[in-house]
Amino acid sequence: MKATCWMGKQNVEVREVPEPQILNQSDAIVRITSTAICGSDLHLYNGFVQPMMKGDVLGHEFMGEVVEVGRRVHKLKVGDRVVVPFTIACGNCWQCRHDNWSLCENSNPNGALAEKALGHAGSGAFGYSHLTGGFAGGQAEFVRVPFADVGPLKIENELSDEQVLFLSDILPTGYMGAEMCDIRPGDTVAVWGCGPVGLFAIMSAYLLGAERVIAIDRFEYRLAMARKCRAETVNYETVDSVSETLIEMTGGRGPDACIEAVGLEAHGHGLEYLYDRSKQAVGLETDRPIALREAITACRNGGTISVIGVYGGLVDKFPLGTIMNRSLTIRSGQCHVHRYMRPLLERIQNGEIDPTMVITHRMPLSDAAKGYEIFLNKTDNCEKVVLHA
Ligand SMILES: [Zn+2]
Ligand SMILES: [Zn+2]
Repeated sequence: MKATCWMGKQNVEVREVPEPQILNQSDAIVRITSTAICGSDLHLYNGFVQPMMKGDVLGHEFMGEVVEVGRRVHKLKVGDRVVVPFTIACGNCWQCRHDNWSLCENSNPNGALAEKALGHAGSGAFGYSHLTGGFAGGQAEFVRVPFADVGPLKIENELSDEQVLFLSDILPTGYMGAEMCDIRPGDTVAVWGCGPVGLFAIMSAYLLGAERVIAIDRFEYRLAMARKCRAETVNYETVDSVSETLIEMTGGRGPDACIEAVGLEAHGHGLEYLYDRSKQAVGLETDRPIALREAITACRNGGTISVIGVYGGLVDKFPLGTIMNRSLTIRSGQCHVHRYMRPLLERIQNGEIDPTMVITHRMPLSDAAKGYEIFLNKTDNCEKVVLHA
């Protein structure tokens, strides 16, 4: 079959690889009909998330048709149309039973590796480095889905692939980012990053009752998309200080909650950015927390910072004093996708959210390498690339 393979830094190729097989009787094999390239795929592409091995199949946002099921799969049958969450979860362990699906204790075969790097291991994930299990991803013609009775969400209506595909990651991730803010009526929420996750965080913040949402980015086309989602916008390249601008926009108090949807490859200007770039380049920190520092500084006293941007390891100049002295709360996590898929499907069906608005580029799977380049370079105002079978 054809699959999008990681072949080295900034090098992906669509290659012929063996078709996946049922390895465990609780597996299903899914024929992919639609898949997407994610901002977190770019962290792999740029070599920031490791370890990757030459030939690893990428892709953690995908959906398709079940073509084979193991003997112990009871909820799915051949022919079912499913969206698959990017996190792999067993459904039985302590964390799964506590609704913390991205922390499943049974789904990461490389848990020991993750424990060494992070203290404890998170769940397995599709197409996302050997730290999360080295599972082959779904930017391919077929994929093996472990714990097939637990994760995949059956789509039994007329909604198109593009309407439901993002239930696999970015829509639940943006929603969880807003939910972690415990929004109350009248709240102002600031969102760093107007990529697809940032846009879904903006929409979700309004759905959850925010009065104002202010979005921060540097690309005009992305800010325009944020305004379409009713956000006020700040282009950080046109202001001296994002934090000061936000404090001014909120009558001196600061946003009640700040959502960081940027992660470890943040940009900025001035000395601080140069400092982080050089430290990261020589391996003295793994992640550039520029947006995160701004979010912490800008947030009102007693407010919440919700971190959904991807971080891999260690950051420098982390303002713990600010957090402690101003009673800030930091919440974070890989999305517990399983928790949100069904309620968000309902919101899509009710017309409360239109996930298709983030899609700017569509191409066949065979063009995936081109898709990565376009997405990385933001060619033609690229916001989100969907690959169709
Ligand atoms: Zn993703
Ligand atoms: Zn589990």
